[in-house]
Amino acid sequence: MNSNFLQTPITYLKGVGPNRAETLQGELGIHTYQDLLNLFPNRYLDKTKYYKVAQLQRSSADVQIVGKIINLKTVEQKKGKRLAATFVDDTGRMELVWFRGQKWIRENLKLNVPYVIFGKCNWFNGVFSMPHPEMELLEEHKKGLKVFMQPIYPSTEKLSARGITNRVISKLIQQLFIETKGNFSETLSDGLLHELKLLPKSESLLNIHFPKNQELLAKAQFRLKFEELFYIQMQLISKKMIHKQKIKGFNFDQVGKLFNQFYKEHIPFELTGAQKRVIKEIRQDLGSNAQMNRLLQGDVGSGKTIVAVMTMLLAIDNGYQACLMAPTSILANQHYAGIKELLDKIEISCALLTGSVKKSARKPIHEQLESGELKILIGTHALLEDKVQYKNLGLAIIDEQHRFGVAQRSKLWHKNSFPPHILVMTATPIPRTLAMSLYGDLDISVIDELPPGRKPIKTVHRFDSNRLKVFQFIRDEIKKGRQVYIVYPLIQESEALDYKDLMDGYESIARDFPLPDYQISIVHGKMKPADKDYEMERFVKGETQIMVATTVIEVGVNVANASVMIIESAERFGLSQLHQLRGRVGRGADQSFCILMTSHKLSAEAKTRLETMVQTNDGFEIAEVDLKLRGPGDIMGTQQSGILNLKIADIIRDNDILMTARHHAIQLFKKDPTLEKPEHLVIRHTYAQLVKYKNIWNYIS
Ligand code: ADP
Ligand code: MG
Repeated sequence: MNSNFLQTPITYLKGVGPNRAETLQGELGIHTYQDLLNLFPNRYLDKTKYYKVAQLQRSSADVQIVGKIINLKTVEQKKGKRLAATFVDDTGRMELVWFRGQKWIRENLKLNVPYVIFGKCNWFNGVFSMPHPEMELLEEHKKGLKVFMQPIYPSTEKLSARGITNRVISKLIQQLFIETKGNFSETLSDGLLHELKLLPKSESLLNIHFPKNQELLAKAQFRLKFEELFYIQMQLISKKMIHKQKIKGFNFDQVGKLFNQFYKEHIPFELTGAQKRVIKEIRQDLGSNAQMNRLLQGDVGSGKTIVAVMTMLLAIDNGYQACLMAPTSILANQHYAGIKELLDKIEISCALLTGSVKKSARKPIHEQLESGELKILIGTHALLEDKVQYKNLGLAIIDEQHRFGVAQRSKLWHKNSFPPHILVMTATPIPRTLAMSLYGDLDISVIDELPPGRKPIKTVHRFDSNRLKVFQFIRDEIKKGRQVYIVYPLIQESEALDYKDLMDGYESIARDFPLPDYQISIVHGKMKPADKDYEMERFVKGETQIMVATTVIEVGVNVANASVMIIESAERFGLSQLHQLRGRVGRGADQSFCILMTSHKLSAEAKTRLETMVQTNDGFEIAEVDLKLRGPGDIMGTQQSGILNLKIADIIRDNDILMTARHHAIQLFKKDPTLEKPEHLVIRHTYAQLVKYKNIWNYIS
């Protein structure tokens, strides 16, 4: 069946009227035959087994039962009405209930006629009841297509309320197979089909919707997952190639005076091998005539800042300006201070621009930026304001990119006639395969080595009941001259309560660590930026020994003398957040500690998170566990990415298939970059169709 036919609007399918079409579009995004064909089941149910009412268990599995309805009544309840039916077989009775669509059901259900019902049973008030069962007259059921596994399609409340049940969807797909005779054109090359022993397209589609047996289902799934991931990889790779060819960038061909001078005379330490490698990768990009788009991943404390500084020097050496954008004003301030210190000995104009910079101070910044006098601008979102105009911005560095949206990233682009080189730095260690799929248009550099002499942070889990001992430990550490963070969770949904916890905690700490022996800083989101900065400043200078804070402290803050991180209610934090927080300590030469405080009540998942933290300091290992626990949709910064909206494949579970697909896509582009060879025609055609009908997912704008 040719693919144009599959673009037929879904209303033309027998059984789909305008109302159903609208619902299918709105709820499942099904506009065409093709869309319906690509609505893949979430799971399959065993339909070979029939239960008796007397066999029902108080478990939540779906069951299939044959029996009759002997009466039907409407029951008034607090909220609206429900329709209840008594359903019997020769072993007992149970109840069927409906909360929605009652009128239709009342008018259409037949009493005392055998039905096959299917659904989940609840144990309720001493009887089994099945809400919104799927029902089919036994007579029809016997005539119907024999499926041994019932596919379960994605559904929504609206769909079931409007009577578009799983069975209806199945019927529509059946109709589609009748109209097309189940004949669909192949979308992968013969070469791939042979090499990977893939099931042909038509057979795959048939078996995904109407599996003949377990083996064919597995083969169909493999083929369709492979195909989905293959074409995504094709898109990512070709996008990258186009980017390399077309998006011209400023060519930084000079490794000039400033860079060399800094490297030879002022660098405060020997670079690690990983830092050197990454700087080399960046230099290659900058001298390639194409715009750099690079993601720099490095665990907290791995030394990304120096890489940023040296990259900025390259820009300035070539006559351009550079900016660095950070997600919070605390972090922008800290970068500013740190970078100014590094650049102290070489004369470069560098300014800070955050929301709290006064109007009068902004004016000269704007002017010097436009005249080109100012070389480096560091700041927050304030850098994106329209008033901020550069003479020639050649490099934009974005720190901790998960806090910035894609739209903001592209805003920087429009500051220029030519796009600046972009370096995105992140400490969120996204596993490589995921990063590859998420940021297909970015090149990736990884700093996978910590500066020498770091002692691994010792992490322990303590229950709240041990607080006194923990406090004693804090006193001992402070006596040795160390500083301590105490962090409280702050979650939007429970903000008021969380602030109360924070303030209660602060008061109790203030009692246990009284003035004048102890000085305490407190920083949280409700404070004015100026007050925050002041409190932070005191801690940075060592005037206070304890910093009580919410997660504002999470990102990038660098106080080498702070060696103890206490995380309160640690069970409420996600793994990546815990890891980020822990990264605030362990920055100096002293042994550092992280203490995870929790109550005794812990979920299994929370236990896994805590155990993982205690066992390892490796951010990538932690990210893998995190990914397994939560799925990719939850990993910071990936939410907005459409790529996770896959139709059949699963980025984590199908990682192997992803790697295979990527391998073959790369091979294909190597062999035949323009897909001109006759044997690749089918791939070229399919790819063009996917792009044309937007059936390929939009990942990155
Ligand atoms: P992050 O990657 O978390 O941004 P930073 O750039 O803040 O890490 O570096 C963490 C600390 O390590 C800083 O105090 C920095 O001066 C120091 N540092 C960075 N690179 C090295 C190195 N090669 N040798 C010794 N110390 C280093
Ligand atoms: Mg940093």
